[in-house]
Amino acid sequence: MNPIEEILNKETFSKEDLVALLSADEKESVKIFEKAKAIKKEQVGKKVYFRGLIEYSNYCSKNCFYCGIRAGNSRYVRYELTDEEVFEAVKYAYENDFASIVIQSGERSDRKFTDKIEFLLKEIKRMTEGKLHVTLSLGEQSVETYRRWYEAGAHRYLLRIEVSNPELYKKLHPADKHHRYEDRLEALRRLRAAGYQVGTGVMIGLPFQTISDLADDLIFFRDFDIDMAGMGPYIEHEDTPLYKFRHELLPLRGRFFLSLKMVALLRIMMKDINIAATTAMQSIDPAGREKALMVGANVMMPNLTPVKYRQNYLLYENKPCIDEEAEECKSCLEARIHLAGDEVGYGEWGDSRHFGKRNEI
Ligand code: SAH
Ligand code: SF4
Repeated sequence: MNPIEEILNKETFSKEDLVALLSADEKESVKIFEKAKAIKKEQVGKKVYFRGLIEYSNYCSKNCFYCGIRAGNSRYVRYELTDEEVFEAVKYAYENDFASIVIQSGERSDRKFTDKIEFLLKEIKRMTEGKLHVTLSLGEQSVETYRRWYEAGAHRYLLRIEVSNPELYKKLHPADKHHRYEDRLEALRRLRAAGYQVGTGVMIGLPFQTISDLADDLIFFRDFDIDMAGMGPYIEHEDTPLYKFRHELLPLRGRFFLSLKMVALLRIMMKDINIAATTAMQSIDPAGREKALMVGANVMMPNLTPVKYRQNYLLYENKPCIDEEAEECKSCLEARIHLAGDEVGYGEWGDSRHFGKRNEI
């Protein structure tokens, strides 16, 4: 048995094991991918769940060094969807049996914004008789806001920790009170306490990030006992401070391969959580999301944002599907899912089985 196979046979991975697995070359990694695929088949099955993605607004009060829609970037026209545009996307998701949507946006915590989200949530619940599940991805908020949104109908929340190493976090964010690692972590705890299914994730292949950091990220997910994960490659954006480090990055292919390994290893470590095949994977490899599905992912997020806004929600460069209407996006996704040997779980909420088990008793 080779060392990679030996490690894969262990019940739990140590930090050293994860570093060895993340360092495996393409040939050795086949074993990792095979194991992840088998676990996915046995634990979560073939179903891929759709979450219709609504990129609600690109107004953002923050200035993360990696992100294209950071407050300091004046290139984009700032927008916020009208209520009608949101309801239109909701209707599309509902009528097409998506069963679930994600509302994502730049971070804002003013009362006008938090009230608007609460209003939209209540309306969505009313319009769909409580049948459409809503996931939010609206950044760090107060305990009260998280509670209000939960009570108004949101039950899942995505908040990436971005990197679990506090020192690295500091290098990727401004040194002010709005960008503190401790606050991000506290927000994840608040979400858990408010009752949400909690999803988090990291970017992979960032400047200054090491394999040891990525191994720690996987351990962070396990220790936090997350319900859902969304991870993807870091992709540089010209209008951001990190752009000047682009020559120090792994080539895009390398970042993609590392991301696939992260998905596969997380599936092996956390057998019954939901893992997204993220859009950033597709922007490097046209078949990127199918590849992620084949090594363990089970969630996809078709974009339902009106096309006219998509040019202004570019978190990173080469973002795919920015000129496609929802219908095209849906049929291309369906075909891709079948190619990966999976099927769409239409009309099913597709809750994290992990969350269900943790809350049984
Ligand atoms: N404002 C919210 C949600 C929108 S940003 C928040 O920050 O949580 C959603 C995600 O986009 C971020 O969590 C980050 O991981 C990702 N992202 C931002 N810039 C990126 C880049 N250059 N490459 C890859 N992913 C990026
Ligand atoms: Fe704003 Fe989120 Fe981008 Fe940070 S990652 S600048 S919070 S949209």
